[in-house]
Amino acid sequence: MITFESVTKSYDSKAEPALDDVSFTAEAGEFVFLVGPSGSGKSTVIRLVLREEIPTSGRIRVAGKSIVKMPTWKVPYLRRSIGTVFQDFRLLPNKNVFDNVAFALHVIGKSSASISTLVPDVLETVGLEGKQKRYPHELSGGEQQRVAIARAVVNKPGILLADEPTGNLDPATSQDIMDVIDRINRNGTTVLMATHDGEIVNRMNRRVIELADGVIMRDEERGSYQVGA
Ligand code: ADP
Ligand code: ADP
Repeated sequence: MITFESVTKSYDSKAEPALDDVSFTAEAGEFVFLVGPSGSGKSTVIRLVLREEIPTSGRIRVAGKSIVKMPTWKVPYLRRSIGTVFQDFRLLPNKNVFDNVAFALHVIGKSSASISTLVPDVLETVGLEGKQKRYPHELSGGEQQRVAIARAVVNKPGILLADEPTGNLDPATSQDIMDVIDRINRNGTTVLMATHDGEIVNRMNRRVIELADGVIMRDEERGSYQVGA
């Protein structure tokens, strides 16, 4: 589903590369944690998958397509096959829960009829039934992140990218959010999640790719992560 082959990314030719000869494959349906300290290159991996950045060298395949030389006009189609969730939720503050999720569907031209079934379905999946009319400022952080996850997956993308999705949440709420992401993965979505939250990684017991200074230090089928170890 996602393949990096000898990917190097330098933002600045005078500095060490942000990623240095990184290779891995995430198969369809896999759950992969990308761990490592701040600055190790996790967000760079996420931005490369989204074609927000282009590698300095190497090859990247996403959902069966080589994306490095993909023409710009095709990039929006690539991004339709990828849902994204971030630490800071990124909801539209002046739209209610329903409209935050529906907005993405309107943009890609879905009919009102399909939107009116898809949105309630996905809100149920993330545990937000009954909150359709609330505005972001009326929701807890955990609920806002559920809205963001609903928006990310409502179009049934093959891939969910999550960059520190629990970074602004307390441990109990973080676990609730992981339960939601886990459910989405078990429904078949490939998940690539960047985090430095060792507690979550250890509880989930999934594949762990550890980065340090842009290099893969470790890639384990059922890994753990000790911060600062
Ligand atoms: P992480 O997500 O693990 O914190 P990043 O991928 O954000 O790591 O950063 C990896 C390295 O690349 C860091 O040294 C960071 O300062 C650098 N970097 C990230 N984005 C940029 C950018 N847009 N311009 C220049 N350097 C960047
Ligand atoms: P994260 O907390 O997700 O790892 P970062 O703090 O690394 O994110 O990056 C936040 C934003 O700042 C990103 O859009 C990234 O491109 C930019 N950025 C990160 N490091 C640098 C840098 N050294 N120079 C310029 N921009 C950077």
